[in-house]
Amino acid sequence: MSARILVVDDIEANVRLLEAKLTAEYYEVLTASDGPTALAIAASEKPDIVLLDVMMPGMDGFQVCRRLKDDPETRHVPVVLVTALDGRSDRIAGLEAGADEFLTKPIDDVMLFARVRSLTRLKAVIDELRVREASGRRIGVIAGASSRLGGTGGRVLIVDDHERQAQRIASELSIEHRPVIETEPDKALLTARGPVDLVIVNATARSFDGLRFSAQLRSDEATRHLPILAIVDFDERPRLMKALEIGVNDLLAKPIDPQELSARARTQIRRKRYTDYLRDNLDHSLELAVTDQLTGLHNRRYMTGQLEALVKRAAHGGDPVAALLIDIDHFKKINDGYGHDVGDEVLREFAVRLASNVRAVDLPCRYGGEEFVVVMPGTRLEDAERIAERIRLHVAGSPFRVAQGSELLTATISVGVAATQGPEDTPDALLKRADEGLYEAKQSGRNKVIARAA
Ligand code: GH3
Ligand code: MG
Ligand code: MG
Repeated sequence: MSARILVVDDIEANVRLLEAKLTAEYYEVLTASDGPTALAIAASEKPDIVLLDVMMPGMDGFQVCRRLKDDPETRHVPVVLVTALDGRSDRIAGLEAGADEFLTKPIDDVMLFARVRSLTRLKAVIDELRVREASGRRIGVIAGASSRLGGTGGRVLIVDDHERQAQRIASELSIEHRPVIETEPDKALLTARGPVDLVIVNATARSFDGLRFSAQLRSDEATRHLPILAIVDFDERPRLMKALEIGVNDLLAKPIDPQELSARARTQIRRKRYTDYLRDNLDHSLELAVTDQLTGLHNRRYMTGQLEALVKRAAHGGDPVAALLIDIDHFKKINDGYGHDVGDEVLREFAVRLASNVRAVDLPCRYGGEEFVVVMPGTRLEDAERIAERIRLHVAGSPFRVAQGSELLTATISVGVAATQGPEDTPDALLKRADEGLYEAKQSGRNKVIARAA
């Protein structure tokens, strides 16, 4: 969301097109039309993400990428390489040059925003760590050590019920890593809690839902930081999107290309070691920066910062922003009746449902206790109300499976909805209106959505 993106392309029309798309989604855009200019802007303006065309005269995208990744000042900035449609060898060369992601021309909007969104979040985490580190030790120590971190010798967990495919992946990866195969998701969740550097999940598995498995990894504190590489069918667009929304780090299309597999595995493992290294070298943990510990959703602090930027833009004539304030009904009774641990399970399961029932540009957060907020850019009050109603029905309509699946428990939610209005609106006023809606929903019997226009 509110991130600065440097767009680099030698063709003016391409730059303008991306600039228009990104600006419309609330990003701030810087532009460059050649490699040397891109490097100069990256050094002086410190963008959050670089979108880099591969084919440019003079210094090409690979060279620019390598230079960015060699420089301790810019190495942490995520780079997305934009390659031609049939650019398989480009993608492999790009990963070797240190690129973090790829987009294929012509650029698909949904893929663009899903990837930019996940990198924005990664960058926010790294920035927070760097600030803390810089105030403690010398940042150079980290940069020096991190450049020695390799992407090989990793423990890779392959979760796949297709045995031959799993064997092929394992044998390719065993050249550089130590792969293990699990064919059942429950066992895989246990294995993932041990020392693992990367999880490869078959999202097209027949006997289990690979995306649900990925969401479970994300919701469990012990496995939240594991990079996930999902094997997907590129024709199944809705599942691709869902995978990215759930927070899968990277996608691998079937049929699997062995070279691409090993290059992507190496990149993910290197990136994990970098963030692990940063985390290990700090007093505070990474999650405190942007993530809620229990649910893995964004925390209140991260939400507040994003909401502020969005409301400001809305007040200056930008698109409206809506917010849902959600509170679980009679949550105290769940705690009292089933115990605090079951209460926690309900919160985690609710978080998974919430995250998988909003769009990729929305921001679901834990506001505190059993209260949640969803920030929705570009959304009017009526639309937000409709989405809230859909979430409410989903929660009330399918019971929560808790205590190792031994209990089924029905929970309901009450929701207050508000959207920005006029140039004087503020984040506090917006949340206050949502809170009034919530109060009214509780007063009038709970399991309700109330939108507050003013
Ligand atoms: P209402 O329908 O009016 O919202 O009733 P309620 O019982 O949900 O609301 P109340 O605010 O009285 O109680 C919320 C409870 O949520 C009290 C608190 O102990 C519990 N809670 C807050 N955070 C957590 C948590 O992280 N885990 C668990 N298990 N419970 C929590
Ligand atoms: Mg409450
Ligand atoms: Mg409550």
